[in-house]
Formats: sequence, structure tokens, C-alpha cells
Amino acid sequence: MYYEVHSENIAARSHAPEVAEILDRFVLHRRGGSPVAYEALAAELLPTFGEDLMVLEPAVDGDYRWVHFGREIIRYSGANRLGECVSGMRPQVARFTIDCLDQALAEGEALYTVHRSNGTVRVALWERLLLPTLAADGRRLVIAFSRPLQFREDLLNAVLETSPCGIVALRAIRDAAGAIEQAVIVTANSRAAALSGNPGMTLLDTDGRESLPFLSDPLVWQRCRRAIDLQRSDLLETSFTRDGRAIWLRVAIAPLGDGLLLTLTDITDLTVANHTLQMRAATLALEIGRERATRRALSEEIDLREERERELRRLAETDPLTALLNRRSFTEKANAAIAACEASETEMALVIVDLDHFKQVNDTYGHPAGDAVIRAFADLLLGQLRNERNLIGRFGGEEFGILLQGADLAAAAASARQIQDALLARAMPVSETLALRVTASLGVAARQPGESLASLTARADQALYRAKNEGRNRLGLAPPATVAAAA
Ligand code: GH3
Ligand code: MG
Ligand code: MG
Repeated sequence: MYYEVHSENIAARSHAPEVAEILDRFVLHRRGGSPVAYEALAAELLPTFGEDLMVLEPAVDGDYRWVHFGREIIRYSGANRLGECVSGMRPQVARFTIDCLDQALAEGEALYTVHRSNGTVRVALWERLLLPTLAADGRRLVIAFSRPLQFREDLLNAVLETSPCGIVALRAIRDAAGAIEQAVIVTANSRAAALSGNPGMTLLDTDGRESLPFLSDPLVWQRCRRAIDLQRSDLLETSFTRDGRAIWLRVAIAPLGDGLLLTLTDITDLTVANHTLQMRAATLALEIGRERATRRALSEEIDLREERERELRRLAETDPLTALLNRRSFTEKANAAIAACEASETEMALVIVDLDHFKQVNDTYGHPAGDAVIRAFADLLLGQLRNERNLIGRFGGEEFGILLQGADLAAAAASARQIQDALLARAMPVSETLALRVTASLGVAARQPGESLASLTARADQALYRAKNEGRNRLGLAPPATVAAAA
């Protein structure tokens, strides 16, 4: 049990102004050192302060008995103890009271005490001023001023009013069938009034469903009813509009008798911040989506362009009639191949092929038939010689070049002969009904170390020229010895 006992600085410590005044009178009587006469002090105090005073005298077994019990004390404590013994109080308070009375009588001095009220409902703390006296008949009596120092209500109200939350207690008023007719507000703090949009107004005794805007929401009210019926707590978030502004509340619902205790927290700022964040996240997701789509479209566009460029490059490199390398790109690639072979000291040879008496083909069967033969012969070359290391190009008209990497003169001659044999073995298809047999003359030259493409081509050409001169449909091999000067 909480208590305080003081014999010093009583006036400063006490709460009721009467304490200082009564103490002054006691001190006046106490002058001279002898015990204060009960009759004199009582005559002075009882008429003015009697309602807040009690007088106790020692009883048997260290107990005390009340011989006066003021009306105000009865009012606050709810009982008249006149004639009763202190030991009849609750044990802790009785013990404390007896100890203090003993001390006051033993010291002959005033004593100021504070103690927690154990029995009375409304009072939280009592303050007392104990004054020891001596009656003419020799009885030792204590005159005590006793006044509530703090009321429980005050405490509760202080807690309620300083709470940052709105607090509302509701009582269910039911009809004969037991259905809730009204939810009357029995307690509400001013924060609750402010949160419900009625600042400064008392919510007491009003129907909560009318005075608390969120309770008019049928869903919220349903949850409240369920909390009462099931005697179970609940927590929800709800919003309502006030002055065109959305107010968000978190409502803690707790059953309280046949009613509810609602604790309201304003979460408007939190909710607005949350919504803003969610909206930002959504906008961001949208932007990211858009950016991704743009990037995808861009990358498709780039792919398309690259594809087109590749196609253009291929078209620029290839001969449109035969799809072989044209002369310009054959020359480029052959130069690159020569540089690579030069570095790796790889052998290389060039074969130049010219179809024999081609003018006659055109003259006899027409230019388109000539084209068909050129195309068919290109296919034959591809079929025979296409691989990663060989370059096959159309030099113009019915003249073709084949660069064989890794081939010496003999190997190149073998390849040339293979072409010749193939021509001998089959006719070139011109149409479904026409195929023409053609022959070709071939010039073969093997590259000498350090030799340029121009020189190599010139030597292969000379060999071809010789083959033509010697009667066509044959190979001309460029002699290696004559080469160095041409390099
Ligand atoms: P040779 O045996 O001496 O080579 O006799 P040739 O008739 O083949 O004579 P040459 O090589 O000098 O002439 C090539 C002829 O090929 C000339 C031209 O009429 C023909 N020609 C050139 N380009 C094409 C073409 O793209 N299509 C067709 N159909 N004929 C072409
Ligand atoms: Mg020819
Ligand atoms: Mg020719």
C-alpha cells in the first residue's frame, strides 16, 4: 500500500488549505512544551472543521476507537465508523492508521500522512493531519483532519483527457426481444469528440450511431455488434468524409459489459502517405512497363535494320544471276584471304574458268537460255567446290574465279579437272525440255610467297588464254618459275 508519513514541512506538503490553518492552532496550543489540552483544541476546531475531523481514543489491545466521525468523511468513505475500532478497517489501512496514531501520541507532535484508499470506490488517496492531545480526565485523544487528496475519477479523467486516442464507452440499450435499439455513449474523452467531428461537444448520452460518423457505416456497426455478442475484441480501419476531407480511423473494439469500449486512432496521415506511395509505385510500374515496351520495340527495330543491312550487304556482294560472289567482293575477300595465308604461310591457288564458244549458245538458243546455262554452271561449281576455305565468284559473262586456300598447283589442277569431268558427265539444264552440253577452258595458278592477287590472276589468265589457244576444253597450268617477277 502506498503511504507517506511526515512530521516536518507539513504546511508545504499538504493539499487542503485547512491543514496549515489547523496546524497553526495546534502549534499555538503546544507552546510551552506541555501536551495540548483536548478540550481547548476541540472547542476551537470542531465548530469550524468538524465535518472533516475525526477523534480517536486508544482502546484495548493497542486498538483505537472513533469518538467523533465528521460528515464529509462519511460522505466520501460511504460509512460512518463512529464507535467502531480502527482494526475493523481493511488490514493494511488499519495497521498504517494505528502505527501513525501511536507515533503521534508517542512524540506528542503533529503528523501529516498520505495513504492509498483501499476500501472506498471514488477516492484514490487520503491526506490526514494527526494531532495528539490530552483530555482533562487523563485520556489521550487524537484529533485528525481527514480529506480525500485525489479522486479516482480525477485520475481516470486525467488519463482519458491526456490520451492521444479517442476513447468512447457505449452501452447497449435493448428492446424486449433483446435487439440493440440504441448504443448510448456513457463515457467519451474530448479527443473522441474531435475525431468524430464534434470538437468541444459532449457526446455523453447520445446514440453512438448518430454522433459517431463511422458507426453509421453498417459494416462497422455489424463488427461492433459481433464484438458485443461474442464478447470478443476486434480491430478495423474505416474512413468517413468531414468538410470534404477523408478521415481515416483505426478503431479498436473491446467488449465492455453489455456494451463496447472503442479506442480511436487518427491514421489519416499514415493512410494518405500509404496511398501516395502505392500510387507512385503503380505509376512507376506503368513507366517501367512503357519503357520495356519501348525498348522491345526499339530492339525489334534494330534487329530489323540489322537484318536489312545484312541483306543489302549480301546483295551488294553477290552476283544477282548466280548468287556467287561478284567480282568486287571476290577481290576484297581474296585479298583478305591472301593476307591471312601470307601470315600463316598457307598455300593457295586460283582457277579461272571460261565457258567455250558461249556466244554460240546465245546465238543459237537465245540470251535467256545462255543465262540458264550460266546459272546451272554456277550451281555445278558450288556443288563441287563450296566449303569454308574456298571463294567462288563470277568475274563477268561466263567467266568464273575459284580461290582454293590450302591448295598447291597439283591440288588446284585436280579440282579444275573435277569441274571439267562434271561438265563432260552432264548437260546444263535450260528448260524442262532442253539441256545443253558445254565445255570450259581453265587456267590454274598456284600462289608464290609474297605474290599479289593481281599477279596471281594475271598468271591464271595467261594459263587460260593458252588453254583456249590450244583448242579449248582443257586446263592451262601456270608455270611456277615465271612468277617471282610478276609478284
Ligand atoms: P571463247 O571460247 O573464246 O570464250 O568463245 P566465246 O564465245 O565464249 O567468246 P567470249 O568469251 O569472248 O564471249 C563471251 C560471250 O558471252 C559474249 C556474250 O555474248 C556472252 N555473254 C556475256 N555475258 C553474258 C550473260 O550474262 N548472259 C548471256 N546469256 N550471255 C553472256
Ligand atoms: Mg567464253
Ligand atoms: Mg569469256
